[in-house]
Amino acid sequence: MKLYKIKKSKIDKRGLYACRDIKKGTRIIEYKGRIISAKKSEADPKFDNNKAIYLFNINKKLDLDGDFKFNIARLINHSCEPNCEVFGSGNKVWIYAMRNIKKGDELSYDYGFSFDEDYKQYPCKCGSAKCVGYIVREGSRWRISKLSKQNKSKR
Ligand SMILES: [Zn+2]
Repeated sequence: MKLYKIKKSKIDKRGLYACRDIKKGTRIIEYKGRIISAKKSEADPKFDNNKAIYLFNINKKLDLDGDFKFNIARLINHSCEPNCEVFGSGNKVWIYAMRNIKKGDELSYDYGFSFDEDYKQYPCKCGSAKCVGYIVREGSRWRISKLSKQNKSKR
């Protein structure tokens, strides 16, 4: 039974939405792509930044390139308060529910972007109460809050 559907999203053009209640821990959708060697992805200018959204590291030698139309899971948007997470299992990558998800909720996960000088190029529109305004991995979001506090005190 299908757990999700494609719909217009407030976060980005399109997103995936739960079309039924989904229990925490459920494997929702495979993140499909082509396996490429890490050597190749390192040499390919297409992946020449640390924000290759569609590239997943499988192990030391292999990456998964998910930048293909057949990879429906690439439509899942980033959120600062996500309800899904991504796990590799063997040579496959799956999206799991990290909490109970209600029918009609948009699926989201943390894109895991690192915090660097480019972060302003990736604004976040997830709309969650915890949103820091930019797509940055959870562990680095405090840096943005710190910066905005510094800017306020300068004024
Ligand atoms: Zn956000």
